Amino acid sequence: MEGLIGGPIPIPNPISQPYWDGTKLGELRVRECNSCGAHFRFIRELCPQCWSDDLGWKVSTGHGKVVARVVVQRAPYAAMEARVPYVLALVELEEGVTMMSNIVDCDVATVKVGDAVTLTWEERGDFMLPQFRPV
Ligand SMILES: [Zn+2]
Repeated sequence: MEGLIGGPIPIPNPISQPYWDGTKLGELRVRECNSCGAHFRFIRELCPQCWSDDLGWKVSTGHGKVVARVVVQRAPYAAMEARVPYVLALVELEEGVTMMSNIVDCDVATVKVGDAVTLTWEERGDFMLPQFRPV
């Protein structure tokens, strides 16, 4: 991601702060339900499987696969103009959690559903943003 600048900056809240703290340690954290073991995104305060609020954190392996992708050709706003074309994707992590991210360090035209990807990081402002690159 060298040379890429700008773009949105996350705004942590009390629910998401531990997630963003993890990214600064190089950890991509997913929520883990202590009652049923389900994994899900950090945005939830209750387990979507059993509604428990007894939740912990698990550090993802960072390995996953592309389950949907689009090549963005036109920047949605000025700060993204230097990035186009880029791949916006849904990545399913090994833990079963699906997250939106970008596929980087690749020929954007070749990224397809089912491709194996692995975690990489983009430094943006004071944040480290999870991105993915082909394996
Ligand atoms: Zn649960």
